[in-house]
Amino acid sequence: MPLKSLIRTIPHYPKQGIQFRDITTLLKDPVGFRMVIDAFAQHYANQPIDKIAGIEARGFIVGAALAYKLGVGFVPIRKSGKLPAETIGHDYALEYGADRVEIHTDAIAQGERVLLVDDLIATGGTAEASVALLQKLGSVVVGCAFVINLPDLGGSQRLADAGLVPYSLCEFE
Ligand code: IMP
Repeated sequence: MPLKSLIRTIPHYPKQGIQFRDITTLLKDPVGFRMVIDAFAQHYANQPIDKIAGIEARGFIVGAALAYKLGVGFVPIRKSGKLPAETIGHDYALEYGADRVEIHTDAIAQGERVLLVDDLIATGGTAEASVALLQKLGSVVVGCAFVINLPDLGGSQRLADAGLVPYSLCEFE
């Protein structure tokens, strides 16, 4: 069963004109979920990684399972005000408005090799802001992994142009 066929599309969510790619249908399928984690684990098998940083909220699900599989630690990148200890944050622009991601200042040690994980990359704004946080803490971002890439929105190209290394398991228009 191709992984892409397990991803559900919800038209006009969260607003008119948006085709929301929903991985809950993929995650509830035991073969599909395992396929995702095994594909990432195989791709990164020969790359030294110290930690996985997952982006709230679906990046936690995939990132935590992958961290377990690779035998490395997991750290959360969260939306504003959710983390309990000392944080640093990075603001970024959305199509309409702005958002902010935060990370604990003690999440990563200087020089640690970190893989960033999320469910989907669209414009790349969330991933770029997350990379900025990781770099502020002195980490080496070894790659950025996504279940889904929406290449028409340019995010994966933006990351590649910035010298980061995006990797995704499937694409939608
Ligand atoms: P970007 O910042 O434009 O690349 O948007 C990516 C962020 O928005 C990720 O954290 C995704 O979880 C979320 N996102 C945007 N579009 C979708 C979608 O169609 N399905 C699931 N998540 C989405």
